[in-house]
Amino acid sequence: MTEPVLQLNNVDQTFSVKQGLFGKRLPLHAVSDVSMELHRDEVVGLIGESGCGKSTLAKILLGIQNPTAGEVILCGEPIQNIPREARAKRIQPIFQDPYLSLNPRKTVAQAVGLPLSIAGEPGGKTRRKAVLEMLDMVGLPRRVEHAYPSQMSGGQRQRVAIARALITRPRIVICDEPTSALDVSIQSQILNLLLELKNELGLTYLLISHDLSVIKHLSERVLVMYLGRIVEAGPTGAVLGSPSHPYTDILSRAALPPEPGHGLPKLDLGSEFPNPIDPPSGCAFHPRCPRMHDACSVDRPQLRSRAGDKLAACHLDSLS
Ligand code: SF4
Repeated sequence: MTEPVLQLNNVDQTFSVKQGLFGKRLPLHAVSDVSMELHRDEVVGLIGESGCGKSTLAKILLGIQNPTAGEVILCGEPIQNIPREARAKRIQPIFQDPYLSLNPRKTVAQAVGLPLSIAGEPGGKTRRKAVLEMLDMVGLPRRVEHAYPSQMSGGQRQRVAIARALITRPRIVICDEPTSALDVSIQSQILNLLLELKNELGLTYLLISHDLSVIKHLSERVLVMYLGRIVEAGPTGAVLGSPSHPYTDILSRAALPPEPGHGLPKLDLGSEFPNPIDPPSGCAFHPRCPRMHDACSVDRPQLRSRAGDKLAACHLDSLS
């Protein structure tokens, strides 16, 4: 495997949250002891329920959020040492909702050209040429350069967001639920466009999704997150085809929709997702785990190696 282009080492993110109007502040551990690597040209999926810490992790990877502990290494350098202009040429995001991520008062040309301005690149004719080339690349007609987001469809807006993310020719793109706000009929087109662009431009993606079929379709490796921690990681086929963690097992056994875009299947886990301000003791999954035993509510399992080049955080050696 090639050198990692992005590394997280033992990253924690804790927020101080007030409980009620007069309540005291309590720590919320949004991300706990997460280590991961992204290698050049690969697509890594990150999956988990809403509130598990996926989006906080994305902000840390983008340098938008400074972690409480641990380090983020982007292309060999600690991310906090990389100036904003240089960072804009290395890593870019594509967010879930193109309606929210595009400024309604900026034209397509202004929106797509903005990262070039942040990266300190020249404006004028050079920038316009770069913008028009990006519109070609994402399959939009050049005439939309003067259009505003309100004049475009959802799929066109997401193509604009993709053009904006790629115009600085970053190495890494953090795709945070890139299709979940789109009509099902458009989602496959956008996923296929992302794959084509990855191959054409040699991109590395972290694909954050709550949609198993999207992860299966695009990712070579997958990380499964539960309550701020990675509970299973490895090649996508091995993790989802033969899980080592009961949570992944339940995710993968739930009836998968035939097409991307139908979201996380309905999970029958007996209880709701726990409150991250008051997480369960021991293994955080134990109140919902069908395989729970005495040690589970006391000892937190660490990630350890499993067959199939996987890691899993469970006291059981196997689920068979
Ligand atoms: Fe379930 Fe125990 Fe494994 Fe946690 S450690 S996933 S509760 S069997």
